[in-house]
Amino acid sequence: MLRIGVLTSGGDAPGMNAAIRAVVRAGIFRGSTVFGIRRGFLGLMAGDIVPMDVGSVADIIYRGGTALLTGRSDEFKSGEGRQRAMNALQDFGIDGLVVIGGDGSVRGCRELARGGIRVVAIPGTIDNDVPCSELSIGFDTAVNTICYAVDKIRDTAEALERTFVVEVMGRDTGFLALASGLAVGAESILLPEVPTDLDEVCLRLRRSRARSKRHSIVILAEGVGSAYDIARQITERTGFPMRIIILGHIQRGGAPTALDRNLASRLGAGAVETLLAGRHGKLLGLNGGCLQETDLEVALESRKGLNLAEYELVKTLSI
Ligand code: ADP
Repeated sequence: MLRIGVLTSGGDAPGMNAAIRAVVRAGIFRGSTVFGIRRGFLGLMAGDIVPMDVGSVADIIYRGGTALLTGRSDEFKSGEGRQRAMNALQDFGIDGLVVIGGDGSVRGCRELARGGIRVVAIPGTIDNDVPCSELSIGFDTAVNTICYAVDKIRDTAEALERTFVVEVMGRDTGFLALASGLAVGAESILLPEVPTDLDEVCLRLRRSRARSKRHSIVILAEGVGSAYDIARQITERTGFPMRIIILGHIQRGGAPTALDRNLASRLGAGAVETLLAGRHGKLLGLNGGCLQETDLEVALESRKGLNLAEYELVKTLSI
């Protein structure tokens, strides 16, 4: 039996609610007392902590966002800020913490673990950039949202014979752009991990015009640069008028897909099991479809790489 705290941190991601529900229900099932910490590390420092019962997580499995709210805190990055957070955990007698968040939140967990806190992090970010996990909660939903939006854009692109540059999220990584670009059949994908070759993009656009294709979609990861700049440069080189769509926060919201709900349920319950087994200072992720624990120190030494074979596949399939 433990007293377990759960929080969501950083950017929200669809499926975080399913993960909170899993931590609360699995914890209670195993005889633990579970506390919800509101607004991430901000609420932890402020002691904004509430007991959670079975009913407190009813009807949230299908909702986007996070019922515990999320937050970002620069103060938490300082030793004093983290000491306040650790004091709050002590005040509430919380002896195990589950953090659901992205790369930054996992770094925060490493600092807590170094300070002696028993913490397990689970990856929750649409960016899918958390190392040592092939998937993070929210990614699948965001890819589906992008697909849904681009399919609609494609209708009008076709009707008006236009080329669209669609900018997607992902911070400094291209996971979202690559997965969604493959799924929508984009002509070109521009990723931060691959040097931008606008000549090649223009060549592809010209080639598709030459074979009477009258519309095209270029997917641009936000980490590459401004969609307006890229579109202007393409127009200068090809003479093709471009339309620009910046999908923005639509990519973060909405009901989680079944895949995200199931991943979140497994990771949330798995994190409770890890803590109850006496293991902590871990990142719990997915590897080969199975849950996998990695020491936070080890996990954060690595950087997750993009599957460049998928990038080549996009090019092959859009000849
Ligand atoms: P995400 O978790 O989605 O990547 P952020 O990068 O904003 O989002 O991180 C969330 C929070 O995690 C930050 O506001 C900060 O409080 C904490 N954090 C991020 N990086 C560190 C770090 N290097 N050390 C301690 N805490 C950190």
